[in-house]
Amino acid sequence: MILPNSWLGLLGGGQLGKMFAIKAQQIGYKVMVIDPNEDSPAKGVATEWICADYTDKAALEIMSSKCVAVTTEFENVPFESLEFLGDRIFVSPNQQAVRIIQDRILEKEFLVSNGLNTVPFVSLRKFDDLKSTLITDSLFPGLLKLSRFGYDGKGQIRVTEYKELKKAFESFDGKACVFEKEVKLRKEISVVLVRGKNGKKINYPLAENKHQNGILDTSIVPAKVEESTHQEAIKITEQIAESLNYIGVICVEFFVSNSGELLVNEIAPRPHNSGHYTLDACSVCQFEQQVRAMCNLPLAPVFLNSPAAVMVNLLGEIWNEGEPNWSVLLNSPSVNLHLYGKKEARKGRKMGHFTVLADQLDIAVATAKSIRRSLSESGVR
Ligand code: ADP
Ligand code: MG
Repeated sequence: MILPNSWLGLLGGGQLGKMFAIKAQQIGYKVMVIDPNEDSPAKGVATEWICADYTDKAALEIMSSKCVAVTTEFENVPFESLEFLGDRIFVSPNQQAVRIIQDRILEKEFLVSNGLNTVPFVSLRKFDDLKSTLITDSLFPGLLKLSRFGYDGKGQIRVTEYKELKKAFESFDGKACVFEKEVKLRKEISVVLVRGKNGKKINYPLAENKHQNGILDTSIVPAKVEESTHQEAIKITEQIAESLNYIGVICVEFFVSNSGELLVNEIAPRPHNSGHYTLDACSVCQFEQQVRAMCNLPLAPVFLNSPAAVMVNLLGEIWNEGEPNWSVLLNSPSVNLHLYGKKEARKGRKMGHFTVLADQLDIAVATAKSIRRSLSESGVR
């Protein structure tokens, strides 16, 4: 068990890093963050902040000499850096799991080798792979996705025919990609789960996720799905965590196809945006569970404090007309605002979120809608 006052390392100081650091410090740990961006949200809350690239050997040396364990807030951290740290201190989640998850081709191959259903796809590693006989008409329209470094719908191009696919692959300079069929979705759901060192697993209630332009917009909890889908999603998430020998918080995003089939979309090796509701609506949040898992404290039991919760992301465009009108939101005691402290409100940038708690799902959804509308109403800004 890692005791309070010990140092925990964190790669990445965005909003997820900030929320992790706050929880870790609340328990009594010291948190050292490495992030190349001087303006990162976690800067103000880190016990020690190192502004450096994730590959900076000197920074990694300092981290490994002072910290007892390290985690990451995002999947795109260079594998070599995790390997360097993993040779010296405890890394949670383990570097091999991150290596698979950060590469869509490896991730999809991992899912297939575990007998799990995904959307039909073809891996394209080089231009010659465009000749593959696996690229059939049935895959169109489809999405060409960069195998590495995509997030929030970035690094994806929709194509309707082979000629477009070729052009799109060329526009990515032939970087490794997966090409997958665009499936008609009934809904999207996700499961956040934590697995401890002793193999114990605890999952959070399923979230139903609505995306806009490839970016998560709203998470509704509990997700409205059939009991069999619910059970299957949890079972698959447990299987993935087991198979990766995972310690920490993991999130699995699923598609429910129009025919009701459950398909694994992707995995996140960290607390997830669709789990932000756990901050306000659960007995213990996903960030505290990450601290508990990496410090080998017993995982805390999870239950909802409120029968229904709706989380809405606040993207940069809400600031188009200046500071949003917070008055209605702040006057609603069942609505919780979280602003990440980012200086520049760019389009599509996650600036914050709010979570509505209610006794009934339809009331939570309606309140979330009206709060969102109120943010752009004129008045006190
Ligand atoms: P990211 O890493 O950017 O989250 P995703 O692969 O999860 O990338 O894609 C973002 C969103 O785009 C998904 O949540 C879903 O709404 C939509 N999407 C992605 N792939 C497909 C697909 N094959 N069929 C239908 N919708 C898709
Ligand atoms: Mg996604």
